[in-house]
Amino acid sequence: MDPWSDLTSLSHAQVKALQDRKLRHFINRHVYPFSPHYRKLFDDNAIDPRHIRGTADLKRIPLTSKLDLISKENPQKFRDFVLAPDQEKIRRFWPKSELLKLAALSLCKGKEYVQDRLGREYRPVFMTFTTGTTNSPVPFVYSRYDIGNLNLSGARMVALFHVAPDEHIVNIFPFAPHLAFWQVFFGALESGIFSLSTGGGKVLGTEGNLIVLSRIKPSVILGVPSYVYHLVRLAQEKGQDLSFIKKIVLGAAKVDPAYKAKLSGMLAQQGAKDVFIFGTYGFTEARSAWAECPAPHDVSSGYHLYPDKEIFEIIDPQTGQVKAEGQDGELVYTALDARASVVLRYRTGDIVTGGITYGACPYCRRTTLRLSSDITRLSDNKNLQLSKVKGTLVNLSHFGSVISDIPSVEEWQIEIRKHNNDPYDMDEVAVYITPKAGQDASGLADDVKSKLAASAEISPNEVKIIPLAEMVKRLELETANKEKRIVDIRPKG
Ligand SMILES: [Zn+2]
Repeated sequence: MDPWSDLTSLSHAQVKALQDRKLRHFINRHVYPFSPHYRKLFDDNAIDPRHIRGTADLKRIPLTSKLDLISKENPQKFRDFVLAPDQEKIRRFWPKSELLKLAALSLCKGKEYVQDRLGREYRPVFMTFTTGTTNSPVPFVYSRYDIGNLNLSGARMVALFHVAPDEHIVNIFPFAPHLAFWQVFFGALESGIFSLSTGGGKVLGTEGNLIVLSRIKPSVILGVPSYVYHLVRLAQEKGQDLSFIKKIVLGAAKVDPAYKAKLSGMLAQQGAKDVFIFGTYGFTEARSAWAECPAPHDVSSGYHLYPDKEIFEIIDPQTGQVKAEGQDGELVYTALDARASVVLRYRTGDIVTGGITYGACPYCRRTTLRLSSDITRLSDNKNLQLSKVKGTLVNLSHFGSVISDIPSVEEWQIEIRKHNNDPYDMDEVAVYITPKAGQDASGLADDVKSKLAASAEISPNEVKIIPLAEMVKRLELETANKEKRIVDIRPKG
């Protein structure tokens, strides 16, 4: 059975009608009655839930931001977003027809059966956390109903990647209560495809992961881009055959065409020719991820969305005004078929260049909506990407891209520190570089210095060349959930 069902051939008008109907039902039957946060928000803003008739009325609901989920005084604030039905609320808010159905069910199958069914739908049984480094992690809970949706999004991605039932998957996402690992785990299970989750470098070590690859010979590998790259680089050093790999699926960080070309070149040297490399996008608050379909490496199909499960809007981040098809702006997410943790009009803080497109995908012909993959994630490392260093606001990701564009640079790290580690002394910027194997490293430090001086707001105090093994430790490539590309070790004064 196709997990996409008829979604892939609907016209845009049909998609809109489906979303209108689902939104009406979701707000009136589930969100307004059972969400403490949204009932208060609707009441405070004098919004009658019956007046939310479709997507056109969505803009009447105020935006939700990460700050709404976090409170210093009330660390349990995330619970206000969890649907909490009880008998009194069901009686008060559900239509008579629905109550009669419940009463009939209770009469035929018993009270316990009805309670069990409601528990299955609403009671939290699973949890993942947000991964932000600057804010405290926010838990998002899932009921068994939500696990069904997590299974479905996983199965839809497996279908996009054309993974056949006899293929083998190795999941090298770090084992953690984060979405990526579990999305892969549940998706493979639901699709009936063999998978092994190694837990990433932290659990098995990179050697262990290489042994797993040589024994299982998976055609599909899924992981974080920097760690997959590290693993393939090590296989190259050891001369290990990787010819069995056909598809690589990357998540939890942006993947650009240059990275795809580089990785595919390295894979080809290890015998894996014509490997498809897929980027994915997901976030904890949606409890779901979306993926690209097979396309040439120098283009992206965009992420294929699930219009029966969510509504995405692109807004002007300053004014909040909703943008049209294909326009740039901030991505805003509304759940359409969720239980347990539910957010409406949630500001992701991610800026999408190219927005959302409606037409059929030029590569797989599916007519499901597509999100441009040109996304700047502002939600992670917000404080680090745009940091005040030496009194100047510096865009450190630009700083980083200048370094990574130098062809003889293999890995790099930027460290912001205080002179003598004294909180009152001057800021310093150090750049650590590992040159490509076999490259002449003399002059590289000067090259990096002059390139940065020419194109960035500040110049580094030190550029240090270090061996790869030391760099792997510095970046925590094998141990952290995400590599430490930019670190701020300034003591708090
Ligand atoms: Zn496609």
